Amino acid sequence: FAPWEDPEAKPIIQFKNVTKRFGDFVAIDDLTVDIYEKEFFALLGPSGCGKTTMMRMLAGFETPTEGTILLSGKDIAPVPPNKRAVNMMFQSYALFPHLSIWDNIAFGLRRDNLPKNDVKDRVEEMLRLTRMEKFARRKPHQVSGGQRQRVALARSLAKAPKLLLLDEPLGALDKKLRQDTQFELMDIQEKTGTTFVIVTHDQEEAMTVASRIAVMDNGKIIQVSTPDAIYETPNSTYVADFIGEVNIIEGKATSVGEKLSMAWAEGQPEIVGTPTTEFEKGQSVHFAIRPEKVSISAEKPETANAVQGKILDIAYLGNISTYHVELPGGQIIKAQAANNRRLSRRSFTWEDNVWLGWTDTAGVLLGR
Ligand code: ATP
Repeated sequence: FAPWEDPEAKPIIQFKNVTKRFGDFVAIDDLTVDIYEKEFFALLGPSGCGKTTMMRMLAGFETPTEGTILLSGKDIAPVPPNKRAVNMMFQSYALFPHLSIWDNIAFGLRRDNLPKNDVKDRVEEMLRLTRMEKFARRKPHQVSGGQRQRVALARSLAKAPKLLLLDEPLGALDKKLRQDTQFELMDIQEKTGTTFVIVTHDQEEAMTVASRIAVMDNGKIIQVSTPDAIYETPNSTYVADFIGEVNIIEGKATSVGEKLSMAWAEGQPEIVGTPTTEFEKGQSVHFAIRPEKVSISAEKPETANAVQGKILDIAYLGNISTYHVELPGGQIIKAQAANNRRLSRRSFTWEDNVWLGWTDTAGVLLGR
């Protein structure tokens, strides 16, 4: 049982109808969500959608205009930021440049007047956890960006917070290091059992690290689910389009029931799909399908859906290629196929007339 499917599980964080206004501007709009212990929860969304505002309310730097936030069942409103079992790691890391890495990690523990030996044990544990033992005596500017990121993490976890908030923690790292560090972050999260809430606008990062992702827009959570559910069964064209590549075709339902038929262009066969929500006849429908779910072939395929078109563009990506296929009405559909290295680089070329096919469960039918 994942905690969010377990009716007995107690959330560590609960947003209950939280609204945050800055003057007339609504930054967070009547938002309700539960986050469970040991989750690695990602807030994903475009710039300005309210991700940082949610974090700042958890940390205590902002207070909700309406609604309540509970931490382990208790309203956090009366608890000052330094008394919350919450720590926030900023993108800038905010390390003290004149202090050694050892002293940076020890800083918060000493401020709490922890006995000397306890400080030493805890700092050493954090250095081991982040594989920074060898660098303990160096200053922050004497280590690499990735190592600085690990020091910041060690310092944030030193006081064993229940909840660690990470605001674009890997934003300063280049792509390769960023990917390696994502795995380290997951490993450390698992070892410490701390609940992590991460803000990112990198969808791949969210997909990699998160137990669940909340996709946000304009101060609202549009969908919250596991990475695979977000990818496979988005609840809206907004989410489908935000995560990964997708083809979206608009049309009208001509028949509904166990199967839905959708008319979408003159002279084209109707698209047949298996709806997961209810539709009415005549209702406008958006059909969303990932490029890798669309097959491409020279002969007409046996699938429930098959359309013919001409290859406009090909993006060669090594193991796969993405084909942009133009249908007679002008609609462009992206299809992906594996490349067969032994034969030729790819099986199709520009201007080829091809068939595209997909089964009746390969895409999702969306009402919005
Ligand atoms: P980004 O990815 O760019 O960091 P975000 O999703 O974290 O964006 P927030 O920083 O939460 O977005 O801001 C949400 C909205 O609230 C933005 O439109 C922002 O301009 C506004 N906002 C945030 N803080 C304040 C403030 N103190 N006063 C007025 N408006 C604010």
